[in-house]
Amino acid sequence: MRRVDSAPNLVLATLWADALSAAGIEARVFSRYLSSIAGEIPPSEAEPTVWVLDDADLERARALLLELRRPLRGPGWNCRECGEHHGPQFAQCWKCGAGRG
Ligand SMILES: [Zn+2]
Repeated sequence: MRRVDSAPNLVLATLWADALSAAGIEARVFSRYLSSIAGEIPPSEAEPTVWVLDDADLERARALLLELRRPLRGPGWNCRECGEHHGPQFAQCWKCGAGRG
């Protein structure tokens, strides 16, 4: 088992693990125990971490997480159908369902 990366919060860590699972990589999130004692250790070590069960998946898992994180930077976008504004992480309009143009 290998550590892939740490996430800023548990929601994101779970999202990443789900994405890895969807790609056929068995992943786990470890955080709950550390979060409960977060007051006693540095915050960076209390961050939830994502692990792959199979060491051979590590490189692919890291590449996938990079893909997941990259769109979070960059500008948002406006739906060409309804004009709704979206954050860069969304590929589809939640309001009318149009794809990102
Ligand atoms: Zn729209």
